[in-house]
Amino acid sequence: MLGSSFAGLTTARFIRARCGDAVDLTVVDRNPYLIFVPNIPMEVFANHDPLVSMHMETVRFHDHDGNRFFNAAVTAIDPDHKTVSFVPTDRAGSASETIGYDYLVIALGNQLAYDRIDGFGEYGDTVSSGYYGDKLRRKLHHGYRGGPIAIGSAHFHQGLERKPDWMPVAAAACEGPPLELALSMAHWLEERQMGDARKVILFTPGKVIAEDAGEAIVTEFLDLATSMGFGYKAGTEDVVRVGADGIDLANGESIEAEIKIVLPDWVPHAFLRELPITDEQGFVVTGTDMANPDHPEIFAVGDAAALTVPKLGSLGHQQAEIVARHIAAAVGRLDGDKIGDRYRPEVVCFGDMGGHKGFYIHSDTWYGGKTSVFKMGYAPWAMKMAFKEMYFRSGGRPASWGEPAAEATMDHLPLP
Ligand SMILES: Cc1cc2nc3c(=O)[nH]c(=O)nc-3n(C[C@H](O)[C@H](O)[C@H](O)COP(=O)(O)OP(=O)(O)OC[C@H]3O[C@@H](n4cnc5c(N)ncnc54)[C@H](O)[C@@H]3O)c2cc1C
Repeated sequence: MLGSSFAGLTTARFIRARCGDAVDLTVVDRNPYLIFVPNIPMEVFANHDPLVSMHMETVRFHDHDGNRFFNAAVTAIDPDHKTVSFVPTDRAGSASETIGYDYLVIALGNQLAYDRIDGFGEYGDTVSSGYYGDKLRRKLHHGYRGGPIAIGSAHFHQGLERKPDWMPVAAAACEGPPLELALSMAHWLEERQMGDARKVILFTPGKVIAEDAGEAIVTEFLDLATSMGFGYKAGTEDVVRVGADGIDLANGESIEAEIKIVLPDWVPHAFLRELPITDEQGFVVTGTDMANPDHPEIFAVGDAAALTVPKLGSLGHQQAEIVARHIAAAVGRLDGDKIGDRYRPEVVCFGDMGGHKGFYIHSDTWYGGKTSVFKMGYAPWAMKMAFKEMYFRSGGRPASWGEPAAEATMDHLPLP
């Protein structure tokens, strides 16, 4: 198992639960912990350092399950010889080693390419890591002068090679966070009597923001955002430069802003790009069984997989179940006819809106389905908090009934 964050930890735990002692499981991650990224924005507004409050140690769960954990960076994969090379990361100067595998699960996520945005280090902000979350927290709570706030995404370069026809092409990798940030930012400004939604401008490289939520939901969201007074720019194409006074966009426009919050391009790790198992960008190609068609012993889950679009943790969760069932069947712990459903993506997202309110999106219309649910209120916020709590308590192995039960409740019950 390469990677032990959302996708890797959950997959490893599901594999152990299904396969028992039929597998020797080695997990490699350069960090012996994960940061619970989806709740970083809430921690920023609450003035908590997310590196402290969203930190979850992962090694003890692997130890509990009888997995070996290597605190190491993967440097190469050789699919023909079935080997992985890595360098231990707990001490600088460690030497490279190589191990073999029968089955390989790639859950290494992607690089979030802030380094491709000119000026980002000096003037940009974001919420995708403990470090950046804390940087924004300090800026908002201790230095913000009340100026305009821009929130949006850079262009996402999705792999097109061997893309199935049912998979649309996304302009941005993950636009739930900008929606959530804009709504909760407006609430945060109001609470401090520093302004409201009119200070916030949302921008997207796509034709519309959060296109993967489906047209009906996007229309409803944009009606709401307009009535609240948010600024909005679509079709910005990409982020070219972040400066002291604003953002320059690839379509030639600029946005003036004191705080510039950007979600970047999701870029595969360089060593994956040249492999025969990846597309032209470096995303791991799989079928809907999450196995590579040419190397069926190699699986991919989470953001590293080409079929994970948008880059959403809930898609990785669905894939984790699929991979665990396939490996259980391969090692004789599950009847082949009980492998169950293949991957069928749905956007499921719980977002914070501030003031203990949230929104819930459940939609597959972007992929040609008919499900389209968008709700707002106290319950989605409570669900978001409950999921984080359950994730920490279960060590990344939420109960199998948890997600279907949450979706059934949110989809069908009227919300207060
Ligand atoms: C601000 C924000 C909010 C979000 N909110 C939501 C949400 O509400 N709901 C939702 O479903 N999704 C959300 N997402 C998306 C979600 O966070 C990602 O889809 C999820 O983190 C992907 O998990 P992953 O395990 O595939 O990759 P990652 O979380 O990126 O984990 C990759 C792991 O691999 C390790 N790794 C990387 N390279 C190497 C290497 N070379 N060697 C060894 N280890 C390595 C890393 O240390 C890490 O542990 C959000 C994302 C952001 C940025």
